[in-house]
Amino acid sequence: MARAAVPGGLMGRLDWRVARLAGHRDETPTARTLLLDVPGWPGHLAGQHVDVRLTAQDGYRAERPYSLAAPSGGDRVELTVQRIGDGEVSPFLTEEMRIGDPFELRGPIGGWFVWRPADPAPVLLIAGGSGIVPLRAMLRAREEVGSRAPFRLIYSVRTPEDVYYADELRTPRPGVDVRLVYTRKAPDGARTAPGRLGLAELNSHGWPAEFAPNCFVCGPTGFVETVADLLLALGHDARRVRTERFGPA
Ligand SMILES: Cc1cc2nc3c(=O)[nH]c(=O)nc-3n(C[C@H](O)[C@H](O)[C@H](O)COP(=O)(O)OP(=O)(O)OC[C@H]3O[C@@H](n4cnc5c(N)ncnc54)[C@H](O)[C@@H]3O)c2cc1C
Repeated sequence: MARAAVPGGLMGRLDWRVARLAGHRDETPTARTLLLDVPGWPGHLAGQHVDVRLTAQDGYRAERPYSLAAPSGGDRVELTVQRIGDGEVSPFLTEEMRIGDPFELRGPIGGWFVWRPADPAPVLLIAGGSGIVPLRAMLRAREEVGSRAPFRLIYSVRTPEDVYYADELRTPRPGVDVRLVYTRKAPDGARTAPGRLGLAELNSHGWPAEFAPNCFVCGPTGFVETVADLLLALGHDARRVRTERFGPA
């Protein structure tokens, strides 16, 4: 039975829609942004995600969640997918899908891990690897609506080659601080040796807990749990620490 999609869908049941690949852009050697046309897309908030469903010729189906990588803009939806070597869905999305190819998608999904443009509170974004995707949508949404909420992004990546949206993040924007933390290889001439994100970086590049920032932490499960614990240890209010786990550490 057909049901109406819930715009901004928080809890309601959502219909599958047909999306078509309209274009793509490689972010890193293993991550690709997919530009999709989704007729009738109801719009979404930065931080929400969709479910993608692929159906093989023999009827076998695979379904995975992917964050919306950009703010709402008509029927156009952007996802950025990290290819997992032995994965079922991500290699297809990043390597095999051709322009015009259809597949199914439903959403938007999620009402907690979202940034609302009317909220003037400071924002602390902390990403590990592909966890940057929904946080990039929040940065883009801030710019689109002309918000003056101060944003800080701490983005942990293995090497300089693993940075998504590198040009965008390099472009200075008033009210937005971006700090990259390299865990395996730092760029030539970097003052800090590679290492894991810890209390020192959160202290130096995050907001003090007294500023009551909204914190959004996204990435592999182990990364998210470690960072959330550090934020709580620094005195951040648990109700303001929002997390999204993408999968194994
Ligand atoms: C809410 C939500 C939003 C997400 N948004 C994004 C997004 O924007 N971009 C994106 O690339 N992914 C995102 N993911 C992860 C995505 O849903 C898939 O899990 C991922 O693409 C792997 O799927 P696969 O079919 O290729 O691998 P699978 O066949 O499911 O798994 C293959 C192997 O890889 C491991 N694995 C699975 N997921 C990951 C992972 N994320 N990192 C490392 N190893 C993994 C599995 O344990 C298994 O060993 C999101 C997940 C959630 C829950």
